[in-house]
Amino acid sequence: MRDIQMVDLQAQYQKIKPEVDARLEAILESAAFINGPEVKRFQSELEEYLNVKHVIPCANGTDALQIALMALGLEKGDEIITTTFTFIATAEVIALLGLTPVLVDVDPETYLISTEDIKNAISPRSKVIIPVHLFGQCANMEEIMQIANEHGLKVIEDGAQSIGSSFHFSNGESKKSGTIGDFGCTSFFPSKNLGCYGDGGALFTNDDALAEKARMIVNHGMKVRYYHDEIGVNSRLDSMQAAVLSVKLKRLDEYSAARRAAADYYDKELADVEGIKTPKRLENSEHVFHQYTMTLDGIDRAALQSFLSERGIPAMIYYPVPLHQQKAFRDVRYEDGAFPIAEGLAKSVLSLPMHTELDQEQLEYIVASIKEFVKNNK
Ligand SMILES: *Cc1c(COP(=O)(O)O)cnc(C)c1O
Repeated sequence: MRDIQMVDLQAQYQKIKPEVDARLEAILESAAFINGPEVKRFQSELEEYLNVKHVIPCANGTDALQIALMALGLEKGDEIITTTFTFIATAEVIALLGLTPVLVDVDPETYLISTEDIKNAISPRSKVIIPVHLFGQCANMEEIMQIANEHGLKVIEDGAQSIGSSFHFSNGESKKSGTIGDFGCTSFFPSKNLGCYGDGGALFTNDDALAEKARMIVNHGMKVRYYHDEIGVNSRLDSMQAAVLSVKLKRLDEYSAARRAAADYYDKELADVEGIKTPKRLENSEHVFHQYTMTLDGIDRAALQSFLSERGIPAMIYYPVPLHQQKAFRDVRYEDGAFPIAEGLAKSVLSLPMHTELDQEQLEYIVASIKEFVKNNK
């Protein structure tokens, strides 16, 4: 059996090696490392795939979030509502820009931002909602867009974990994750569902004016070379990363299907294991399983994790500490107990290996090992 990894990028590369190598070699020969044709090509391929008017490539997913906030022209102290159960990047950029993160709790079964809690968090200073499509499933964008419209708020989707997933509206319409709000943001970090071989990210929008603004900001606030209309940043996707992404984008739906097949197997085999709750799948969103995250009840998580580790099976905790309990985000507004669902999840979630290359033998071995532990530790 091949070694089991949380994400198996080596095995995935072997299958696309000739194509990737040829594209990278051509870039080496041409020396068009920055702003070369590969970046434009990937940009338009992704626009077509997502059915969105504008894709603005940038250096990473964190930058994408920051640039989206910068493009919305906010003022210090404006409030940005987001989930406490996410990766730090989502809220970090809010604080970095002098804006005020207003955190809310999540749904216990999907781990996604609670729309009820969003409503309760709205104040006269609220300006933006940032839902996070955590682990590959979309937050309730229908309700979130309704709330935003009612209160005149903007929406930035953090789709770093959800590229390729869709949201189905009640009127029968479907849209790709990240193309529903004013901006969608994603990350091409290697372990993400569409990952490059370094850092990368992008913003998506259907709004021409916002796209123009974001394109300026990523490039030092300039439209005409050396004429800077506003303060921007330097945030570029390079040609090598764009080429890798172009090769992988063609296979993204196939990759999502492989992840879903692995999740189907976990679901089926773990459904009846006492103390394990498999992740809930929503009907209004297609899950692309960036992570397969279950919750444990009455099972010693640390003991299970080390039992699996001894058998060569990695299992990770995403995330061990909600944002409001992070040292960096300690705030008088949020004491321990402020967000009981997220705090409970932080203590009970466990993510299993999830990637495009899991084979039947590995899956069976993972599931059998979990069952063995549970049986022996009743
Ligand atoms: C990975 C991730 C980011 C940040 O992306 P980087 O490319 O690593 O900067 C932001 N939000 C979420 C939810 C993520 O998982």
